[in-house]
Amino acid sequence: MSIMLHGIGVAKGIALGQAYLMEHGQPDIAEYTVPDYLIDSEIDRYTSALETAREQLIELRSSVPVGVSGEVTDFIDAHLLMLEDSAISRAPTKMIRHQQCNAEWALKQQRDTLVQVFEEMDDPYLRTRKDDIDHVINRIMKLLLQQETDTQELMEPEEESTARIIVADNLTAADILQFHHQNVAGIITEHGAPNSHSAILARSLHIPAVMGAGNVHRYLRDGEPLIINGDSGMILIDSDEKTIDYYQNLQNNHKLRQDALAKLRSQAAVTRDNTPVSLQANVELQDDITAMHQVGCNDIGLYRTEFLFLNRDDLPTEEEQYENYKAVIEKIDGALLTIRTLDIGTDKPIPAIADMEGADNPALGLRAIRLSLKNLDLLIPQIRAILRASAHGNIRMMLPMVSSMQEITQVQNHITQEKKNLRSEKVDFDDAIKIGAMIETPGAALSADGFAQKMDFLSIGTNDLIQYTLAIDRTDDQVNYLFDPLHPSILRLIHRVIQEGNKYGIPVSMCGEMAGDDRYTRLLLGMGLREFSMNPSALSEVKQVVLNTRLDIVEPQAEQILKSPFHNEVRRLFEQLNSSNPDHE
Ligand code: PEP
Ligand code: MG
Repeated sequence: MSIMLHGIGVAKGIALGQAYLMEHGQPDIAEYTVPDYLIDSEIDRYTSALETAREQLIELRSSVPVGVSGEVTDFIDAHLLMLEDSAISRAPTKMIRHQQCNAEWALKQQRDTLVQVFEEMDDPYLRTRKDDIDHVINRIMKLLLQQETDTQELMEPEEESTARIIVADNLTAADILQFHHQNVAGIITEHGAPNSHSAILARSLHIPAVMGAGNVHRYLRDGEPLIINGDSGMILIDSDEKTIDYYQNLQNNHKLRQDALAKLRSQAAVTRDNTPVSLQANVELQDDITAMHQVGCNDIGLYRTEFLFLNRDDLPTEEEQYENYKAVIEKIDGALLTIRTLDIGTDKPIPAIADMEGADNPALGLRAIRLSLKNLDLLIPQIRAILRASAHGNIRMMLPMVSSMQEITQVQNHITQEKKNLRSEKVDFDDAIKIGAMIETPGAALSADGFAQKMDFLSIGTNDLIQYTLAIDRTDDQVNYLFDPLHPSILRLIHRVIQEGNKYGIPVSMCGEMAGDDRYTRLLLGMGLREFSMNPSALSEVKQVVLNTRLDIVEPQAEQILKSPFHNEVRRLFEQLNSSNPDHE
């Protein structure tokens, strides 16, 4: 009997294959006493499992394909760092010695302790790090138990022709990377969210994936035929011939579409009525630059500088930052590079800044530009590094999460002072460097006229703008369903920012996830947006929509949408707008 289930579609595409159920839950661990004379060799057994886990991760890191988001290597690095932490490297060996227990039992006890500590944390981001601890410990545990890891087992080629769809409670980005090498057709997980590292990687690697699929394992047996739709989140178990044919056709169409998109690389992004649209890239690591070049993109609309500050105890020096920014501008031959000053404070704490600990509500606390203004040790070296790098190409400086004009004035005063200092030090920089602000709080959007008069450009950060306007924690799975870019208030705020930018003659771009979602491209064009910055993997699809859009058709439709305060009506008009045909109006 066929069954239909639903999860969240996080990576587009159709997959047909057999279910491969990954181990659910933790393996049973036996406890036994290790005699005195075997304690040292039991400790050796533990340290060698640790070393093998380290080697596996290093190998995995070196196999990350070019073009995959830098977040993936960051993620593997974070696991490598965890292996070195004394909670994992030393505490279990002490237990083996003092309690005379076997290595697996020592590791199990340590896992229970760590998991409990993380579960008791108030901070939702830190709570999610519990999964990372679990994954790292599982890797060592499996080596101790002399089990092959599930993913390694999969690597043994069984029947080459059998497409497999992995079904697991949760997966790490590292697991997904291994699946990529094994031609896994699709992925289903019971937990996980669209913005998790695993989802980002599945998208980058074009593996159709459905996450958050509840208790899917209860309805499935190993080897059962499955179909998944990574767009809609649908899962079909044991379908009839007719349904299989239908989805095979859809799958072929999806592949044809991907091939056609690759051909757009050298085509300029212009609408049907010849209006040029600038498509730019969001970049985190220099690897992302290869990915943007692959899709024919030269400009960076958002360079997130956080990664320079993460996973370390000290702060990067001005020189280190300068070298990094200079390397990026050289890689893009002096094209547009928009460097965002540091945006940490909520989900990305750094140990070198003491202020960051213990905020009751970090999303509303000392984050982004607020943190930089309070800690000039962060702001001044970064301003100087950006100014110095501006001597090498078209660099803009962008300030994250501004909420008041006062913050702008303060930063501008620091920039003026640092320009003066550099001049007296006889150091080159671009005196006309453009300074812009991210509009990602409702307050900033409502005062966009003020910001537009003081800034050289604005960029709309929809990820935070939606979080703050609709009061939805963007990291909380429970309220994810309310996170809606089509909410009338969001559309009106975006429109207001675009209008004020036009009125005062400054460019307005969008660099939140909404800019890279081709479902919204027509609407945003109709609302007047002409600069979109996104993950390079989304760029060709957005370009395709731009090429098929006539502004004279979408502008009046967008105007209608903006007039409606009703969510349902907005949705209906939005569907109409997306189905209008540029050849028949
Ligand atoms: C945003 O908020 O939309 C944005 C681009 O910034 P980040 O996702 O880095 O907070
Ligand atoms: Mg933001």
